[in-house]
Amino acid sequence: MKAADFIDLEEQFGAHNYKPLDVVLTRGERVWVWDVEGRRYMDCLSAYSAVNQGHCHPKIRQAMMDQAARLTLTSRAFRNDQLGLLYRELCQLTHSHKVLPMNSGAEAVESAIKTVRKWGYRHKDIPENQAEIIVCANNFHGRTITIVSFSTDPTARGGFGPFTPGFKIIPFGDAAALEAAITDRTVAFLVEPIQGEAGVIIPPDGYLRQVREICTRRNVILILDEIQTGLGRTGKILAEEHEGIEADLTLIGKALSGGFYPVSAVLSTSEVMEVLKPGEHGSTFGGNPLACAVARTALRVLIEEGMVDNAARMGAYFLEGLRRIRNPMIKSVRGRGLMLAVELSPEAGGARQYCLSLKDRGLLCKDTHTHTIRFAPPLLITREEVDWALEQITAALG
Ligand SMILES: *Cc1c(COP(=O)(O)O)cnc(C)c1O
Repeated sequence: MKAADFIDLEEQFGAHNYKPLDVVLTRGERVWVWDVEGRRYMDCLSAYSAVNQGHCHPKIRQAMMDQAARLTLTSRAFRNDQLGLLYRELCQLTHSHKVLPMNSGAEAVESAIKTVRKWGYRHKDIPENQAEIIVCANNFHGRTITIVSFSTDPTARGGFGPFTPGFKIIPFGDAAALEAAITDRTVAFLVEPIQGEAGVIIPPDGYLRQVREICTRRNVILILDEIQTGLGRTGKILAEEHEGIEADLTLIGKALSGGFYPVSAVLSTSEVMEVLKPGEHGSTFGGNPLACAVARTALRVLIEEGMVDNAARMGAYFLEGLRRIRNPMIKSVRGRGLMLAVELSPEAGGARQYCLSLKDRGLLCKDTHTHTIRFAPPLLITREEVDWALEQITAALG
């Protein structure tokens, strides 16, 4: 079968909820992927940062195959010999006290929402069904009904109501707006350390420190959604480390499995997580031994192979290279670690055409919010590979 045949099948039999670039991939290794016609591309999206460890990392693959041959699913009705080890390793790595394992990122967000509401009714005397959670404009936290209920993106919401109440939206990067929005009924503030889907929007320096101080003083739980920023992407294990703070709840997913399998988690202090009692929350697949074995190895290679430091170094080098590109259509270049973006001016006529011409040059990336191109290669990218990427980007934007 040819690429066009695979595309036809997707169009004919699949839901049309994505508009992918027409490249049909069949194989991947490190930062590279190959299409069905044998053409090679550099992956500068990394499945929205789920393959931070690079495609088909051999150690993660081995752990997955070994565990798949031994035991895959027990349900949480019984215990397994991988879950406790993953808990301990995650807590040691992130200075957390408690872990709640789930599968998708959206499930981690939903789980955090349930947990902080319950905490609020227990600890803050909020009248039943009145708990409020503060979120930011232009957020991206997932696709469930509750999560799109507090999205400000009309495409994500349109036609999907009625929506879940209990959310209040403030501008991102504005600590004074948070202070002003808190009431007696506020249980939590949910925020991305850097807004990824919004186009790699980095808040002003000190924002997270101010937010941490306000949440502590007003007895509001700080939930950081690090599903995209976490696990090395920004050059630290968690993006919160850039400001030396610790969230009360931290959400991770995506790269927690190195792209092999959906694994997510809510990381918590003991005080917050202890409100959940047996039977009050769960997931058939959450915490299964296959997921845990994969996640344990995905975390181990991130550390052992120095990928976090490499993301900091190569990210700075990549950013510097992007900043050197002289083109009047570039409105802004920004990034932290290997989470990078070039925003084009409206006169450039949209970012998608540049993604198409980059594809023709062998570099895969994704436009976001019409005018922004995001670059987020796997964290093991080398200096030579960054040089190659910069050559293609310079040529495509020239
Ligand atoms: C991807 C993402 C999610 C949702 O994760 P899914 O696994 O797609 O449900 C939530 N928050 C952020 C910041 C994300 O980038």
